[in-house]
Amino acid sequence: MMREAGEIPKIADVIVLGAGIAGHCAALAAAEAGAQVLLLEKASQPGGSSAMAGGGFVFVGTELQEQAGYDEDTEYLRKGLFETGKNRNNPELVDAFVRNQLDAYTLLVRHGVKFKLGSIDRLILETGTGRAITNMHMAVRAHPNITFASKCAAMKLGRNPATKRVTDVTVAFGDEIMTLEVRRAVVLATGGFSRSRELLGIFAPELLEAVKHGGVANTGDGIMMACDLGAGLADVGYVSGSFGGAIRNYPHGVQGADEVPPLLFSFLAGGILVNVEGKRFVNEGQTYKALGNAGMAQTGGVAFQIFDKKVLDTALEDSSVNNYQEGISGGYIRMADTIADLAGCMGLDPVVLEKTIERYNADVRNGIDTEFGRTNKLMTVDTAPFCIAASANALTTTYGGITANGKMEVVDWIGEPIPGLFAAGEVVGGFHGAGYFSGTSLSSSSTFGMLAGRAAAGCNWDNNRG
Ligand SMILES: Cc1cc2nc3c(=O)[nH]c(=O)nc-3n(C[C@H](O)[C@H](O)[C@H](O)COP(=O)(O)OP(=O)(O)OC[C@H]3O[C@@H](n4cnc5c(N)ncnc54)[C@H](O)[C@@H]3O)c2cc1C
Repeated sequence: MMREAGEIPKIADVIVLGAGIAGHCAALAAAEAGAQVLLLEKASQPGGSSAMAGGGFVFVGTELQEQAGYDEDTEYLRKGLFETGKNRNNPELVDAFVRNQLDAYTLLVRHGVKFKLGSIDRLILETGTGRAITNMHMAVRAHPNITFASKCAAMKLGRNPATKRVTDVTVAFGDEIMTLEVRRAVVLATGGFSRSRELLGIFAPELLEAVKHGGVANTGDGIMMACDLGAGLADVGYVSGSFGGAIRNYPHGVQGADEVPPLLFSFLAGGILVNVEGKRFVNEGQTYKALGNAGMAQTGGVAFQIFDKKVLDTALEDSSVNNYQEGISGGYIRMADTIADLAGCMGLDPVVLEKTIERYNADVRNGIDTEFGRTNKLMTVDTAPFCIAASANALTTTYGGITANGKMEVVDWIGEPIPGLFAAGEVVGGFHGAGYFSGTSLSSSSTFGMLAGRAAAGCNWDNNRG
């Protein structure tokens, strides 16, 4: 059942807050365990960041990987997670993920999600942007035990003063404020806080002016509701940006609250970066995370991606990343037939930019980047049309959030579970530690959503217990 206004049930066994990938997996897992479920979404559409994501899921041991002869196992995955997270990860969450990720893969596949082997990494399976959430939402709407309501924002969790158990959720549904009762448990799956200036100001003030890419309603509501009941916090100090957030109509554009700009990483395909002075400033062959710091150090925290037809032709269709056509039609990328005209599009000095590119092209032809030692994608910028995109650090995800144990129970600062409250997805901190292992957000959000949904329904099953 789907509701946008009017009546919704005032009581349910399990109430899931937030309809991204974590919320969908939680709702389906709880319903399959026999619970009557309410899945509530604040925005007008389900999906949050999950609907915008590039669609790379890290799994190991799937039949696709086995058929391809890949032999990476769960130990390999566990090691990679701790290495990337600099051992700051919560081992209970890492273990729960590693143990149950294959079940989550099966849950997704069972509900129609189609994966293919990734082109970049053996651990990453790809679905394409938005595909997984579309399939999962169709499954949610078809399930007789689940009622879905959009434009329904959870505001506060209520609990029994004696037992401390979470008993209800106050929501704003259309124009009404109402309190919904929960028989078994609430699952928080409200995503990150990339759209909250208030929380960014506290946890990551250096990213306040970053281009925002997360779900348009991801304002950290779940974090605040859980903290109100005493939940702890983890990893909030490790929020970081990725260079490549496109700025519309530079220098006049200001990002709208609901604007979802394209993510442009043209430098990974052979483009270069220059600053407002028209000069290169970094080895562009590094990861976008590493480029984030270099970009932020430039005047105004802005740099310009410059690329030519060769890179333009590598555009990814069906993806939120490097969708150059969307960038051009949306006013993020400007094109010109000469470098001098390209400079004019963004108010750069044409003579300086021409010199920068002449020197770079000469270096490429000689096989050595004499300025910054770039070796990766060392390609000339010489084939019209030329493209330019003003860019800044992009904030796609926040990852730090409330503390949870391996059963996905939300826990307080001393590790005591808050009865009747579970959480999954980007609202939870502790899984990633000090660094993000690419592609593990969609897969961990699915896995933890599945575990939280089952546990909320009263079915405390995971692969640890058989
Ligand atoms: C552009 C982009 C590309 C990415 N690419 C990848 C990738 O390829 N691989 C990968 O692993 N990760 C990727 N990520 C990260 C990944 O998409 C997210 O971390 C993941 O989708 C989080 O899932 P979630 O269900 O926790 O949150 P979300 O999908 O954000 O869902 C949370 C939902 O909760 C709703 N909500 C918020 N507050 C309330 C409230 N008060 N009441 C009710 N509902 C509420 C929101 O509106 C939203 O719909 C990408 C992110 C972005 C932005």
